Amino acid sequence: MTAAELAQLAHDIKLWARELGFDQVGITDTDLALEEPRLQAWLDAGHHGTMDYMARHGMMRARPHELLPGTLRVLSVRMNYLPFEAGFAATLRDPTLGYISRYALGRDYHKVLRNRLKQLGERIEQRCQTLLPSTQATPGEWRPFVDSAPILERPLAAKAGLGWVGKHSLLLNETAGSFFFLGELLVGLPLPVDAPVEKEQCGKCVACINICPTGAIVAPYVVDGRRCISYLTIENDGPIPEEFRPLMGNRIYGCDDCQLICPWNRYADASPEPDFSPRPNLHRPPLLTLWGWSESDFLKHTEGSPIRRIGYRRWRRNLAVALGNGPASSDAMAALQQALASAEPMVAEHIEWALATLAVRQEKEDKKTRLLIRCIEKGLPDHA
Ligand code: SF4
Ligand code: SF4
Repeated sequence: MTAAELAQLAHDIKLWARELGFDQVGITDTDLALEEPRLQAWLDAGHHGTMDYMARHGMMRARPHELLPGTLRVLSVRMNYLPFEAGFAATLRDPTLGYISRYALGRDYHKVLRNRLKQLGERIEQRCQTLLPSTQATPGEWRPFVDSAPILERPLAAKAGLGWVGKHSLLLNETAGSFFFLGELLVGLPLPVDAPVEKEQCGKCVACINICPTGAIVAPYVVDGRRCISYLTIENDGPIPEEFRPLMGNRIYGCDDCQLICPWNRYADASPEPDFSPRPNLHRPPLLTLWGWSESDFLKHTEGSPIRRIGYRRWRRNLAVALGNGPASSDAMAALQQALASAEPMVAEHIEWALATLAVRQEKEDKKTRLLIRCIEKGLPDHA
């Protein structure tokens, strides 16, 4: 294929990507050698926690051409996901509700993005076929990835000009913030590459570091996964360390705090994509309603949702912690108590923690009430 044909194809790929609902696409090569020391240091520090697959794939994450031999370019795409009625504050401020990371309120994004990337790959293949046999053009093998392969998607996206990696380690875009999904299409065509953004624009800001409830951003650009609520509630299969439980509040699936505080997210656009619209039973859901779900209810209500991936056991564990962080109501305590006998050991331990926490809170509240009643009985102060 001539340089002019490749340039035309790169131009058309961007149009097709927009038609397919992507908000941006950038093209880069596969060289991430500069990222390898940073990745190795992160793994050496154990910040990946029990995500053993991270260590298992080692430096392949920084070498897309090893993942799919023959790969010459990575098409990095992003798609906004913020729903129109995100309801961040209303959910976070009400401890009787469960907070679900906004990316997980609708349909499983893996399916949505992979399907669109596949369509993009097919269009590229068709274009190459129309150029045959005169140019022997072929896209080689191509493959879409959405969180499904060991690939350093954020550095690749940054290199492709989609933004810069912020101090919270997510990709930031100056006109779109960070509430978007990323995906990649690996191709064997020597397309012209896009320029990265000139420099990162976090500047002196440290808002995400300061707001993180669990202190997971241990240094600028370094997130210790073992402390991050997203990891603790989603990836982590075991118990949640006690030190983090009170800090989780009502976050039952993921956490958005470091994104919410980020000044660049004032530019984040809501997504018109119907697949990302919140499901009614996951949007501002009462914790006690979710706690009442049987395993078959859970499977039914989370069908086609990313939440289903964590399974009922982790779901119950997370809910138990959130209930323990909520009001010490008799309803909450009775619901927890009732579930204790039949709970499997890991969940039972979290229920016991929740009950003990609520009992302490109730005792404190009772003490305050008793004190108030004594004051009233002694006679109200003149100004009351
Ligand atoms: S997602 Fe939450 S817990 Fe994780 S780094 Fe961001 S603010 Fe901290
Ligand atoms: S909150 Fe500030 S430091 Fe953190 S990612 Fe956003 S701009 Fe960068």
